[in-house]
Amino acid sequence: MRVPDGITNDLPFLTEFRRDLHAHPELGFEEVRTSDLVAKLLEEAGLKIHRGLGKTGVVGTLQIGNGTRSIGLRADMDALAMPELAERPYKSKEAGKMHACGHDGHTAMLLGAARHLARTRNFSGTVHFIFQPAEEGRGGAKRMVEDGLFRLFPCDAVYGLHNMPGLAPDEMAVVAGPQLASSDSWRLTFRGVGTHGAKPHLGRDPVTAAGTFLASLQSIVGRVVDPLQPAVVSACSVRAGDPKALNVIPDTVEIGGTARAYTPHVRDQLEEEIGRLARGTAEMYGIKVDYAFERRIPPVVNDAGASERALSAARAVFGEKTRTQFPPSTAGDDFAFFGLEAPGCYVWLGNGPAVDGALHHNTAYDFNDDAIGPGTTFWTTLVEQELSASAGL
Ligand SMILES: [Zn+2]
Ligand SMILES: [Zn+2]
Repeated sequence: MRVPDGITNDLPFLTEFRRDLHAHPELGFEEVRTSDLVAKLLEEAGLKIHRGLGKTGVVGTLQIGNGTRSIGLRADMDALAMPELAERPYKSKEAGKMHACGHDGHTAMLLGAARHLARTRNFSGTVHFIFQPAEEGRGGAKRMVEDGLFRLFPCDAVYGLHNMPGLAPDEMAVVAGPQLASSDSWRLTFRGVGTHGAKPHLGRDPVTAAGTFLASLQSIVGRVVDPLQPAVVSACSVRAGDPKALNVIPDTVEIGGTARAYTPHVRDQLEEEIGRLARGTAEMYGIKVDYAFERRIPPVVNDAGASERALSAARAVFGEKTRTQFPPSTAGDDFAFFGLEAPGCYVWLGNGPAVDGALHHNTAYDFNDDAIGPGTTFWTTLVEQELSASAGL
């Protein structure tokens, strides 16, 4: 692992910047302070700035030489609506808000890469540094695309990076194919006829129907989806009746949950089969059902060509610590929307051991500052390789 002197010299600044962001977390589309700081620092580094895509998004562009290729590098900036419970000098100053997914580190590393490349200028082409708001379920990537991200800043390839506890900070995993699952929501309401709890025959009981539905739900993954294709269906919310009225069968039961898949086909299957099960159960009990499946985030599937280029950069930086095998995550990331617009690759950068067992979205999680140097070096190497100054001559 060799971190260039320019980046090593910038590490005290980048570390302080990262900790400052950690102390001042902002939720999705509210990253006003964060995006102000990012825009100011990019501008000072000599980049062209575009603000307001996806409300609080910032794009910094660095164009050097006459290379015609353009690539996009993405960092997410948002924090989570949860309290930080661990004590550290730069603990969150905002009650109920916390950088528990390491996006403070992502922002610092991409900023570090922009600063370094603006100094060294050792490439020929265009880099768009995409600082995205609202990754955590609020739709920031989609909003940036809708606001014209790729129309204003066409990219021949786009790259994302996420920190990963369990890998060491001098380790990176680059794997072609599915990385993160689709993340969709489903809801249904069983509509029966409420009645006295002692006289079920006078109504139509939606609670028993809900029980049948829930008991059968896992048969979709177990019996319908190809056993070699990963899929998750979970019911995460059930609402019915009133615990203070235990002699009343309610009119309705509302159930909601999540569905995850790695291919469009399985995603379609989950949407269809949850609905089929809901309608079939309603039919069986002589009640009605409303069903809605909301497609939120497609799966992140790494493009073969982009993955090869990311792997080459990773190998140059991490050497033998580069992993080409790493299990995909059942979490989602809306980087997927960028990957639909340009060939994309999403890589995992080690965050060291899970300190006290704290993983992403845990109240004690923290980005590991030891990863800033390696992560920043990966970004700059990717740019210098893909937009090689000598290749265009
Ligand atoms: Zn997260
Ligand atoms: Zn995250």
